[in-house]
Amino acid sequence: MPGEDVWQLFDLGAGLSPADLSTHLSKVTKLCKAWFSADGVSLFVRLEDSDAFVLAAQSGADRELPGASSFRLGEGIAGTVARSGEPLILNGPVDHPQVGRSGGPPIGSSIVAPLTATDGETVGVLNMTRNLGTPRFQEEDARTATALSRHLGFALANARLVARLHASAERERAMAAQTNLILNSLHVGVLVVDAVGRIEQANGEASRFLRQSDSDIVGESWLKIVGRLPKTLGRALKTAHDSALRGITQRHDLPKVAGRYLTAYTTPVPRGGVLLVIEDHTEQLETERELQRSRRMAEIGQMTAALAHEIRNPLTSIRGAAQMIAADNSLEGAKKWASVVEEEALALNSLCDQFLEIARPLSLHTDDVNLNALLETLASRTRLEASENVSIEFRPLAGKPIIKADGPKLVQALRNLIRNAIEAMPDGGELSLGLRRSKGFVRILVKDTGIGMTDEQVAKLFTAFFTTKPKGTGLGLCNARRVVEAHGGAIHVKSRVGRGSTFEIRMPLEASA
Ligand code: ADP
Ligand code: MG
Repeated sequence: MPGEDVWQLFDLGAGLSPADLSTHLSKVTKLCKAWFSADGVSLFVRLEDSDAFVLAAQSGADRELPGASSFRLGEGIAGTVARSGEPLILNGPVDHPQVGRSGGPPIGSSIVAPLTATDGETVGVLNMTRNLGTPRFQEEDARTATALSRHLGFALANARLVARLHASAERERAMAAQTNLILNSLHVGVLVVDAVGRIEQANGEASRFLRQSDSDIVGESWLKIVGRLPKTLGRALKTAHDSALRGITQRHDLPKVAGRYLTAYTTPVPRGGVLLVIEDHTEQLETERELQRSRRMAEIGQMTAALAHEIRNPLTSIRGAAQMIAADNSLEGAKKWASVVEEEALALNSLCDQFLEIARPLSLHTDDVNLNALLETLASRTRLEASENVSIEFRPLAGKPIIKADGPKLVQALRNLIRNAIEAMPDGGELSLGLRRSKGFVRILVKDTGIGMTDEQVAKLFTAFFTTKPKGTGLGLCNARRVVEAHGGAIHVKSRVGRGSTFEIRMPLEASA
């Protein structure tokens, strides 16, 4: 009878690797050989999700058991036992490949017992043989073997479950490691605060943002971490987190701390808690600012060149007039040339005024502006000023399109566009003013059926002193753009030679004035 220690062998549970399992099964066959005084013992194990059984362990020095190292459910003696789940004693000379190979010492007796799992499935077959001439297996041996193999069946099924658990835990660990790798390679801070306010997950960037150091903040209390931050930043982050707790996904621009510009994006997590993504866009802002600065420098360069050119014309006239005065002795002549000097000086003066107008920083005085009313007024005023062969149309937008803007400055900008449109239609045409609503924007359209522009012309628009008109200043569009951009808006142009042009002003619905 098996001793106490055999049952320990069947404790095939936690921590068993496939290699451990095969060593274990080898021990089982060895012990069975001793206890049952068998000459050969072999143990077949069913492959997972299959009806194939393969030899997993064997014991019996004199014979290489069995003839067949694998079989299928229902196939041969072992296959039949596996299907029926009933053990079998075979007595008398046995010659079957699954029991003993012909050629070795003849077999006199054999027990074939199924290994049955809790759910009744046969997960293996235990096969023991005694040689001819030794005592045959008895009913009692068969009973013990059955009890043993049932136990072994449970243990095997158990080991499989554990292996499966291990595998899925391993997969999960690998996934978590991969997720961490991804999170840590991001240049944004990512953290999850769970439903009870504990930091459940945080990448390196998040730790750096929130602690200004590299040490991990996972497992810490969110409120505690936030409490240690500079006051304004901490409060803003708390507000951001709380809004997500109420189920709101939002973007929050955080107060500037230590010269850094941070933005937090918060999203409620379905199982409770909040996902926070914190982005530092200081570098991006600086690059943009640098770009703007260099653009401005380039503009100043262009403008200076244009200004010098503009000054030279009147100066040449003045010089000419001065020479004429010097050469002309008559008072009449001197008077005539002096008036030329005066005229040109006036022109220079007005040039200076206009130049100063675009060079001076713009300050806005904003109020609610009803764009329907504003455009209506502009349309009727233009009807009075324009010649009869130009028709002026405006269809108001349904509802009250009200924006925050500096009304008089906006009128000034629009008048520049309208004047250009009228000037582009010397032979008449149609000027239409329009309003459209887009997401977050109102678009004001100024459309003419005039001469239009080439692509080269369009590219030069908005540059100071660019004009194609004999008496043009080339400052109208420059001014219009300045006003619109000061409101956080933008101007776009579409034009076709001979067909006309459309200028579009996009004004944000909540003008950042
Ligand atoms: P100005 O009207 O004094 O020339 P602007 O800055 O107002 O200065 O316009 C610059 C130039 O842009 C104009 O000279 C003209 O060539 C072109 N332009 C502007 N608006 C229109 C338009 N609606 N149709 C055709 N050309 C236009
Ligand atoms: Mg103009």
